[in-house]
Amino acid sequence: MREITVLSGGVGGARFVRGLLHGIATGSVPGVGADARVTVVANTADDWWLHGLKVCPDLDTVMYTLGDGIDPERGWGRREETWHAKEELAAYGVERAWFGLGDRDLATHLVRTQMLEAGYPLHQVTEALCRRWFSERQNVRLLPMSDDRVETHLVIPDEDSPSGRRAVHFQEYWVRLHAEVPAETVLVVGQDDCSPAPGVLEAITGADLVVLPPSNPVVSVGTILGVPGVREALVATDAPVVGISPIIGGRHVHGMAQQLLATIGVEVSAGGVGRHYGSRRGEGVLDGWLVAEDDADQLDGLHEAGIAAAAVPLLMTDDDATAAMAAAAVSLVRP
Ligand code: GDP
Ligand code: CA
Repeated sequence: MREITVLSGGVGGARFVRGLLHGIATGSVPGVGADARVTVVANTADDWWLHGLKVCPDLDTVMYTLGDGIDPERGWGRREETWHAKEELAAYGVERAWFGLGDRDLATHLVRTQMLEAGYPLHQVTEALCRRWFSERQNVRLLPMSDDRVETHLVIPDEDSPSGRRAVHFQEYWVRLHAEVPAETVLVVGQDDCSPAPGVLEAITGADLVVLPPSNPVVSVGTILGVPGVREALVATDAPVVGISPIIGGRHVHGMAQQLLATIGVEVSAGGVGRHYGSRRGEGVLDGWLVAEDDADQLDGLHEAGIAAAAVPLLMTDDDATAAMAAAAVSLVRP
């Protein structure tokens, strides 16, 4: 297997790809040689415009993680970050000063916004930004799912509104409200009319393996699958498609996946998410699905749904553990 394509969100997807690259470099992923290349297609429906700047949190999390610029504890944002600009904005009473905008990170958004305003599409801007971060990694490239503006909004109850509800941007729901208010609906604004970024469909149809990493099934992988053409490419590709559960023992590991699974009516379990993605033999996108050892009782249901499945350790505690997950994923679907 030479060409591996990963459909990624932010923290969970980025950690997985870093472990996969570690596994490739150490020769610990069966059937994947040292010359293998990884294409990461990242979710851009978390993106937003903030203080006049285009912020792409999942693209940046992948870029910083693979470029060793990530803050290891937080899992997002730059290491050795300071927050002076954010404090100054708050002191001016600027709205949305609750968003975690670090001083170092700000430089990325400034460069990106200037390039976008000069007319470069997001995939070219991303490529330019990655040149700095991936100089040591010639075997990986990062693509946004789309160059077009696509934004996840959540409809939440609001007593003060005449309709009794209002829509908030994903970042407000996630960062300011901590997903504590149950969302009624997930709206992915702009999705029906967006196009996949150049290279995205080719990366799926031309791959030897496609991986759905343990990213959020609704607002990371779900939004990528919703880009017109992506599902069709997953159905059409000759490559096996394998996924890894972000849900262990009926709850997410980090983040807030379980709240939004409830919103879209999917059972909050490893098996529930696997069946939600579905088997490629039916209407779905998966050939294989890994669940955690604690979720071995879910395997029968997955097999009945036509999905090859196995239970293995799924905690990305370090790159070796994550590489072992990648190896198990490949073994599950290797022709
Ligand atoms: P985000 O965009 O930053 O929210 O990141 P992703 O969507 O890529 O990943 C978030 C998901 O990663 C969450 O639903 C977590 O449950 C999952 N996750 C985080 N760490 C781990 C881990 O060590 N193992 C597994 N299986 N899932 C994890
Ligand atoms: Ca995200």
